[in-house]
Amino acid sequence: MPDLSVKAQTDRGATAVSRLRDLLGAESVLSGEDIPIRNLQDWSTLGPTAPIAVVRPADSQGVATTLRVAAEHGIAVVPQGGLTGLAGGARPIEGGLALSLERLVGIEEIDAAAGTMTIRAGTTLQAAQEAAEAAGFFFPLDLGSRGSCSIGGNIATNAGGNRVIRYGMAREMVLGLEVALPDGTLLSSMNKMLKNNVGYDLKQLFIGSEGTLGVVTRAVMRLYPPPSSTMAALCGVSSYEAALALLASARTALGPLLSAFEVMWDDYWMVAMRASKARRPLSGRHAYYVLVEAQGSAASDEGKFDAWLENLAERPLVDDAAVARSIGDVKAFWAARDAAAEFRQVLGPHASFDIGLPVAAMDAYAQACRRELTTRIPGCVSVFYGHIADGNMHIIACAPGAPVQPLDEIDEIVYRLVGEYSGAISAEHGVGLKKKPFLSVSRNPREVALMRTIKQAIDPKGTLNPGKVL
Ligand SMILES: Cc1cc2nc3c(=O)[nH]c(=O)nc-3n(C[C@H](O)[C@H](O)[C@H](O)COP(=O)(O)OP(=O)(O)OC[C@H]3O[C@@H](n4cnc5c(N)ncnc54)[C@H](O)[C@@H]3O)c2cc1C
Repeated sequence: MPDLSVKAQTDRGATAVSRLRDLLGAESVLSGEDIPIRNLQDWSTLGPTAPIAVVRPADSQGVATTLRVAAEHGIAVVPQGGLTGLAGGARPIEGGLALSLERLVGIEEIDAAAGTMTIRAGTTLQAAQEAAEAAGFFFPLDLGSRGSCSIGGNIATNAGGNRVIRYGMAREMVLGLEVALPDGTLLSSMNKMLKNNVGYDLKQLFIGSEGTLGVVTRAVMRLYPPPSSTMAALCGVSSYEAALALLASARTALGPLLSAFEVMWDDYWMVAMRASKARRPLSGRHAYYVLVEAQGSAASDEGKFDAWLENLAERPLVDDAAVARSIGDVKAFWAARDAAAEFRQVLGPHASFDIGLPVAAMDAYAQACRRELTTRIPGCVSVFYGHIADGNMHIIACAPGAPVQPLDEIDEIVYRLVGEYSGAISAEHGVGLKKKPFLSVSRNPREVALMRTIKQAIDPKGTLNPGKVL
C-alpha cells in the first residue's frame, strides 16, 4: 500500500501530473491557481480541501488512464460528478487528484425498441430527463439537484428522490454499466436486456459504492412510457396512524398509479410556509400534512383518483384536503415539500439527515429525537419530513443563533436513536465521510469485514477515494 500522507503524495504527485498532461493534453489537467473553486468541496458542510490537480478527461479511456497513472504513482483519486452530494464523498483529498467527469457528457443513443438510453457519466440528470422526453419516453429518476447532479453521481450514490415508491431507486434503472477500475482497466458491461442472469451481476457492486470501487464512465438506463396525467392531493391529518391508514388505502385503490406519498410533520410545515413564497395550499393547522401523487397512463386513471378521494370522504381519515386541478397546483404542492432547500434562509446553518426507519416506527422516532434534541441542546429546532412509504425520513436540526452549531451532539443523538429503532444511517445520500463514524450503527462487523475484503480485492493499493465509506 502506498503512503497516502499529504507530503508523500505531493512529492510523487508532480511526476504523475506531468505524465497525465502528456497523455491527456494540458486542457485536461488543471493545477495550482487554475483549479476551479467548485472542485474543492461538495454540498456537505465539511469545507474545502485542495487536490494537487483536477483531471477532466473527455472520454472513458481518459478516465481509465488517469486511474492507471494514479495507481502507478500511489496518488489518491476522488471521482467528482455534479458535486451535489451531501455526505462528503466527492470532497477531494489534499495532495491527491480530483477526477471530474464534467467533460464526459452526452447521450450516445436512445434505443426505442429496447426502451433504453446510453449515456455518458457526466451528463446532468436534467439533460437525461429532457432527452428522454424529446424521444417520447419518461426517465423517472428525479431529485431537487437535477440541474447539477450527474448520472454517474446518481449511480454511484444509488440516488432515490421523489418517485421511488413507483419506479425504485437509481439501481432499478441501470441495465448496463461501463466502469474504470482502480488499476486503469475499463470494464464494459453495457447490457440492454431486462433479463440477464449470466453469473454475478457485477454492475451491482459499483452502484451505490460512492466511487470507492470504480469510476462510472457510461451507462445504459431504462426508459418508461411517459405518464399521460398527474393527479395530486394535499391532506391534513391529525395522527400518524391516520397517515398510515391513508397510505394503505392509496396503495389498495391506486395500485401502480401511486407515484409519491410524502409526509410532513407540523414542525416542518411551519418552517416551510415561512421559507416558501408560494401561497398556502392548505388552510388551518394539522399535525401531519400528506402529499399524495398518482401518475396515470389511461384516460380512466383520473377517474380512479377522484373515486379514491370521494371514498375517503366517507372515512374519518383526513381532516382537510386540497386537490390539484392543474399542473400548476401539483407544482404548488411540491413547492411546500421542496422548500427544505430554502431552510438555510429561515433557520441559518443546520445539520440535515436522511435516515431509514421501519415505516411504523417513524413517528415514535420523531418524538424521541425531538425530545432529546430539545432537552440536551438549549434552543434546538428540529423538523421532520420524508418519503415515508420508502421508510425514508429527513431531519433538519440546528440551534438558531448559536455562535457554533452543535453538529457533533446533534449527530450523536440522531444516529444513536437510529440504532435503537433498527434504522439505517443513510437512506439515500450515502456514507461518504460524514457518516463513516456511525457505520457500525447500521452494519454489523461481518458486513463491514466483507466490504473491506471487496475493497481490498478491487483496489489493493487503496488509491480510489480512500477514507470514504469504510
Ligand atoms: C438540493 C438537493 C436535493 C437533493 N435531493 C436528493 C434526493 O432527493 N435524493 C437523493 O438520493 N439525493 C439527493 N441529493 C443528493 C445528491 O444530489 C445525490 O447524492 C446525487 O446523486 C449526487 O450526484 P453528483 O453528480 O452531484 O455526485 P457528487 O456529489 O459529485 O459525488 C457523489 C459521490 O459519488 C461519487 N461519484 C460521482 N461521480 C462518480 C462517477 N462517475 N463514478 C463513480 N463515483 C462517482 C463521488 O466520489 C461521491 O462519493 C440532493 C442534493 C441537493 C443539493
